[in-house]
Amino acid sequence: MLKKHHQDFRDELLNWFKNYQREMPWRNTDNPYHIWVSEVMLQQTQVIKVVDYYNRFIARFPDVQRLAAAPLQDVLKVWEGLGYYARARNLHKAAQVIVNELEGEVPLDYATFRKLPGVGDYSAAAVQSIAFNEPYAAVDGNIKRVLARLFLMDAPVNDAKSAKLFQQRADELLDSTAPGLFNQAMMELGATVCRPQSPTCLICPVNAFCEAFQTARQDEFPQRRETKPVPEHHIAVGVIYRGEEVLITQRQLDGLLGGLWEFPGGQVAEGETAETACVRHIVEVVNLSVNDIKYLTRVRHAFTHFKIVVDVFTCDYQSGEVILNGPRDAKWIEVGALGDYPLPRATHKFLDKL
Ligand code: SF4
Repeated sequence: MLKKHHQDFRDELLNWFKNYQREMPWRNTDNPYHIWVSEVMLQQTQVIKVVDYYNRFIARFPDVQRLAAAPLQDVLKVWEGLGYYARARNLHKAAQVIVNELEGEVPLDYATFRKLPGVGDYSAAAVQSIAFNEPYAAVDGNIKRVLARLFLMDAPVNDAKSAKLFQQRADELLDSTAPGLFNQAMMELGATVCRPQSPTCLICPVNAFCEAFQTARQDEFPQRRETKPVPEHHIAVGVIYRGEEVLITQRQLDGLLGGLWEFPGGQVAEGETAETACVRHIVEVVNLSVNDIKYLTRVRHAFTHFKIVVDVFTCDYQSGEVILNGPRDAKWIEVGALGDYPLPRATHKFLDKL
């Protein structure tokens, strides 16, 4: 697409977006905090899943002050099931920075906003443009795909080295008079028309500008760098009963599933049975001896870069005082109280069997 056609492209795209955009709760607000929450939730997560979480989150923490004042555990509980929990921890931390250092207002300034915990180039551009109409082009996976097809860009979309190229293209194409609408329109086009498989080019509002469509090469773009197969880890966990109570441990705040609660366990070593691994990890992680070990079930779960298969056992507390080696906290609680704690998806998959 030649630069002289960029304005026509913007007009067609915005016109289409104004008429065909999907209803979403965060599109009916100009509250920067609400827009920010939606953008954080939408990273790596589909719109359809985000809507309920967004509504619940905003009802519970309607402004940055109430989010900053809430205990992290309450924030994680509302986020439970949405995954990528670092997003929730960072949002919470960032709200505290805003309240303590920025007079309680989401900053209308790209550089200041970009420095907040968890804010990257994409969310800074998205929030500043949508909430404040600042001229920053947002580039996420959907937008990279659209750009790759519009301009026949052969840089692999999953290679960090390509980021600059896509950003440059997006910057050139951005409608600086309506950057927020333009960014949302590009995202919407990628999500509903220029989809990863079988883009609906015949009804695409910008097909006249699309080099891939014009040359019938839509299926060749975007290009991707080959990635290694996703490894699978075998985990064993133990639900330790002491009378009516079970022991749960809290993960350290940094890292995967940080701050969530789970049953003690760990990886099954090569040549080890899952039951032996379960007992070994209970000793190593919480320093307890157990007996009457019974196999309960197996569940599977997929993360972005690996999968887990989890063998779950129940057992009885035998002896010892809890001494933590790894988790940041532990509690004996009644099974009925498990719902009060933020738990990983994999744990939810077997709760009904307890
Ligand atoms: Fe995507 Fe097809 Fe539209 Fe090109 S014409 S932007 S490939 S949907």
